[in-house]
Amino acid sequence: MAVVVTAALAACTTPAATPPTTTTPKTYDGKVLADVRHPAGASTLPSGRNDYREPADVRADLEQAAKARPDVVRVVDLPHKSVQGKAVPALEIAHHVQTDDGRPVFLLMGGIHANEWPGVEVATEFAMDLAEQDGRDPRITALLDHVRVIVVPVVNPDGFEASRTGRIPDKRKNCDPTCGTKVDPDTGADDAGVDLNRNFGVNWGGPGSSGDRTGGDYRGPKAFSEPETQNIRDLVTGHQVTVLVGLHTYGDMNLRPPGQNASPLTPDEAVYAELGNEMAEANGYPSHLSRELYETSGTAEEWSYFTTGGLGFETELNGDSNHGPFASSVLSQYAGEREALLRDAEAAANPKYHSRIAGNVPAGTKLELSKPGLRTTMTADGPFTWDVNPSIRPGPDGRNIEESWTLQCPGRTVQVTLARGETKQVSC
Ligand SMILES: [Zn+2]
Repeated sequence: MAVVVTAALAACTTPAATPPTTTTPKTYDGKVLADVRHPAGASTLPSGRNDYREPADVRADLEQAAKARPDVVRVVDLPHKSVQGKAVPALEIAHHVQTDDGRPVFLLMGGIHANEWPGVEVATEFAMDLAEQDGRDPRITALLDHVRVIVVPVVNPDGFEASRTGRIPDKRKNCDPTCGTKVDPDTGADDAGVDLNRNFGVNWGGPGSSGDRTGGDYRGPKAFSEPETQNIRDLVTGHQVTVLVGLHTYGDMNLRPPGQNASPLTPDEAVYAELGNEMAEANGYPSHLSRELYETSGTAEEWSYFTTGGLGFETELNGDSNHGPFASSVLSQYAGEREALLRDAEAAANPKYHSRIAGNVPAGTKLELSKPGLRTTMTADGPFTWDVNPSIRPGPDGRNIEESWTLQCPGRTVQVTLARGETKQVSC
């Protein structure tokens, strides 16, 4: 069903036509990484893998990418450890990754549902792909000038370990207070844990989430009760995440809000439908309102959108189960999904879909932009452009809420009201 764009992965079999432009070539004992990774029998994935990663393999691949490209890639552990004390790594990818600049963020998440291993694979492969193709593929090289990509391959590491190691293969939720012992094979009900993608703070407790602890979609005792969802909350409220995608299996769909039957279409339905169709054209999965799959409430995608105005999508990869055979669930999905994710990252960079603040301040000035619950900073070096989400925020009634950003300039505060697609010059 998915469109497979094999040409997009030509670098796996064909030497790059031009040498990297931004850095010296990466060599490993005299060979470039792509050749090391793709000996005979290797798959066309950036990693060359033919099987699912073990939990430790994910961090190892992130660390290796960061070690190979320290100017472009860094591993950041999110602020909260999982319920069982595991670190939750994110990979940041951008040219001059260490700078505190005003670039917009594309956030990609996998593994919020523990048994949905293909999302972990696609997220990790996409991160490696960007890191390896930077300086080789002009499209990716240009992209990384304009956007900061943050990938969290495994939002729910405790559950992922329980599932991936075979202890509880169909484990979906997190491990609060334990990982539990069993999953009902018919209903998917899980005898412990919280469904993290029902634990976010917009529409929390609404339809499509359960108050029953053993429910497969148990929402938790309150919004953001879980450290794993607090990590994503802190990431999104501390950055300008203009596009967010959560990867799931399996449903063969690109989903956009709303997730509830009674909710009106969002005020950004036209933009959402346009981008959803672009994703569908790339990955071959139809574009739908989230509620057309089934009702959900308290999801990461909706919370992020209604809180920040950044566009949130959920992609259900194709397959025949939550973690089907690697060849059909990951390998044959990757090329089309790669193209969809590149389009998402390009949309995150495109000011048509967000807003901009421009000004001029002395070099080295630290600026702060805030609204209640949201705070981001950048360091400006003279004339600056800050890519931000609109200050006007989508409301639950299908209409926009008129709000302003508060921009803290040296010695003064400026209120800035911005619609989607709008740029405003401020005198700071
Ligand atoms: Zn899922």
